[in-house]
Amino acid sequence: MLGKGTKLYSILRLKCPRCQEGDFYKGHPYSYSGMGRVKENCSKCDLKYNIEPSFYQGSYYVTYGLGVALFIAVWILQLFFFPDVGPGTLLISILISLLLFSPMLYALSKIIWINFFIKYEKDPKKK
Ligand SMILES: [Zn+2]
Repeated sequence: MLGKGTKLYSILRLKCPRCQEGDFYKGHPYSYSGMGRVKENCSKCDLKYNIEPSFYQGSYYVTYGLGVALFIAVWILQLFFFPDVGPGTLLISILISLLLFSPMLYALSKIIWINFFIKYEKDPKKK
């Protein structure tokens, strides 16, 4: 399921969706300088990551979905481990988790978005 050639491989390793070898981001999602900054091209297969102007605006929908998934995960974890706490504590724990995970959600949303449009190719240079 997580082998090379699957979309999940590209998404979880933040690699180029076409060759799955070149890095997608300029830096780690949690490094201040590289936060959410996509490279111009893939260093291995030369895929242009910015397919068209404002291409990544659609990734905001993915960010929203990931945010809702995080909200539900925190809520379920809280119900499971701390069933007696009130809604204020739940709200604070959701806000803290959003603050902690937002760089990763942002990075994941862009790589998920480009994976909707680009397919994996085993040997993209030999065409
Ligand atoms: Zn590539």
